[in-house]
Amino acid sequence: MRCAILADIHGNLTALKAVLDDIGKQGKVDEIWCLGDIVGYGAEPCECISLLKKLNAVCVAGNHDVGAIGKIDLVYFNPLAAEALEWTAEKLTPMDVYYLQELPKTVQKDEFLLAHGSPSSPLFEYVISTGSAERNFGFFHSRYCLVGHTHVPAAFRQESKKISSTQPAPSRGILLGEERMIINPGAVGQPRDGDPRASYGIFDSKDNFFRLFRVEYDVRTAQDKMAQVGLPIQLIMRLEQGK
Ligand code: ZN
Repeated sequence: MRCAILADIHGNLTALKAVLDDIGKQGKVDEIWCLGDIVGYGAEPCECISLLKKLNAVCVAGNHDVGAIGKIDLVYFNPLAAEALEWTAEKLTPMDVYYLQELPKTVQKDEFLLAHGSPSSPLFEYVISTGSAERNFGFFHSRYCLVGHTHVPAAFRQESKKISSTQPAPSRGILLGEERMIINPGAVGQPRDGDPRASYGIFDSKDNFFRLFRVEYDVRTAQDKMAQVGLPIQLIMRLEQGK
């Protein structure tokens, strides 16, 4: 089985399409797994939902997905994110709202638990350190967990009592062996690791490797679309900075 692992698309259809093109070049995948935050920040939330629906992607809810449909109050977001979510809420069709409403907080796919933030707090917690990873290994039972939310690729491995972290890089894959792991594929639509290229992963059960991919996309087009609909300038600028 080969699965493409996408997170934090954030209404950036230009980046999502570039990633899907790139996935096509890597060979056939059996499933697309999406770790939440389909909407928020970007100018094409409805189009991103439609595309994921068409592809039968397996998705979990992110905090922006539930924020956009009023399931959590916008006071829990920073002012720029809240402004973009207010705009997003206006755009969503009733079918989009229904789709986002029905997204589960976690999904178990074979040996992988899929969550947006963390297994212990799927909508909100950031797994950013070995400390937060260590605590979260106690909150899922399968061997591996896939998370997004930080917009930064990361991998945490549980080796007996010790937790180690490795930085996934496009040049080398990560062997998923006996040890339990928490892996973040980075963000499709708003990377924050200083590299503006879209980020995603592919897991292949044939060799048990997780591989990270970075994809150049037309950032300018995504920015123009945001400017046209009046989204905050800071959100537009951060796309080219990758932070
Ligand atoms: Zn996000």
